Amino acid sequence: MTETAEAPTGELAQERRLVTELPGPRSRALMARRKAAVSAGVGTMLPVFITDAGGGILRDVDGNSLIDLGAGIAVVSVGNAAPHVVERVREQVGRFTHTCFMITPYEGYVAVCEALNRLTPGDHEKRSALFNSGAESVENAIKVARAATGKPSIVAFDHAYHGRTNLTMALTAKSMPYKHSFGPFAGDVYRAPMSYPYRDGLSGAEAAARAISMIDKQVGASETAAVILEPIQGEGGFIVPAPGFLPAISQWCTDNGVVFVADEIQTGFARTGAMFACEHEGVVPDLVATAKGIAGGLPLAGLTGRADLMNAVHAGGLGGTFGGNPVACAAGLGAIETIEELGLVARAGQLESILLERLRDMATRHPVIGDVRGRGAMIALEFVRPGTKEPAADVCAAVAKAAHAAGVVVLTCGTYGNVIRLLPPLVIPEHLLHEGLDVLDEAIRASCP
Ligand SMILES: *Cc1c(COP(=O)(O)O)cnc(C)c1O
Repeated sequence: MTETAEAPTGELAQERRLVTELPGPRSRALMARRKAAVSAGVGTMLPVFITDAGGGILRDVDGNSLIDLGAGIAVVSVGNAAPHVVERVREQVGRFTHTCFMITPYEGYVAVCEALNRLTPGDHEKRSALFNSGAESVENAIKVARAATGKPSIVAFDHAYHGRTNLTMALTAKSMPYKHSFGPFAGDVYRAPMSYPYRDGLSGAEAAARAISMIDKQVGASETAAVILEPIQGEGGFIVPAPGFLPAISQWCTDNGVVFVADEIQTGFARTGAMFACEHEGVVPDLVATAKGIAGGLPLAGLTGRADLMNAVHAGGLGGTFGGNPVACAAGLGAIETIEELGLVARAGQLESILLERLRDMATRHPVIGDVRGRGAMIALEFVRPGTKEPAADVCAAVAKAAHAAGVVVLTCGTYGNVIRLLPPLVIPEHLLHEGLDVLDEAIRASCP
């Protein structure tokens, strides 16, 4: 038996409440078991064990209630145990749990693909396929692009994050912790300079010209199957490219017979105040990789794109044992229903207003905040040494630690490890968001020399 506290019934009270130090004694006991049983290679950001979660609250085994400003890395955008997700999962799990879609199909998989074809940018003819994780979706995007173009090379960008499998490690930029000691990596992957307005001062057009020149000269359009880009970079530091960058890269791809792949795994499903972040600049990608927010927490990923590309692969070339599992598909349909019913695209826009106003005010009072950026409910603070742009990873870590100790879950990211990212569930009650930001403000004050 586990040492968990009695499971509460009904809805979680939407309040931050600490009844022990963090981590409390039950979490500490579970961490000891974790250490004895779980690989040390799997990290823990905040060592409290969760028993229940919903709205904007995570409740732990010691009875503490924490404010969730991370949504499990932009996964539970519709909330934890969202009612439509739970209903549909319950219904499906009692009927059948697996057949393998490639053996004997079922409707849920088709319905999720129909929804993806409808919701992703562009009204052209599309097809989709389903997988288990974001990395798997990205791998399949590369397979599709290579099969459709007959070309080998792939271009990714500085600060990119596309996953932890072998091919996606090659696409991911940051060595520690994602790639360190895990090579050799897949070949024919090239890295282009990203638009990072806070640090490069370039316009979107200038940054795109720089990237395109590199691709032209060092890779060659005739060798390039695909260019893959996150419309707002996630793990790399919530980097929003300068306006015009995305459209220029996408246009170059179209003009040169190169498949433009948007990795919308973190930015998708209403997170940025649009269903997909490419919409902010009217960009229509050839292929869109989705996962994270797609299914209210169940493992599901999608790859959606132009029918001529998605159908260029030989029959049997795409798939997997579990991909598009019926229970995960039911959850996906419940999550999409929730996004549409609750108007979460518009809600993300409202959260953006609150977040930007509060964080910009903090930036006027805390000179360690070099930049406030992001879209929708995907907003970040970049920490620097006051008066410079020198990254201040130590301050960032101290702020996160202080927020955690006060019961507010914030995540860090960034190539330089100096970014705090806020990704609240889109259903978070406003009073909790404000309280979480109050705690963050105080954590910054307390962490600055
Ligand atoms: C999380 C993420 C991935 C990888 O998804 P997994 O489900 O962890 O494999 C890929 N790309 C982006 C932009 C991500 O945020």
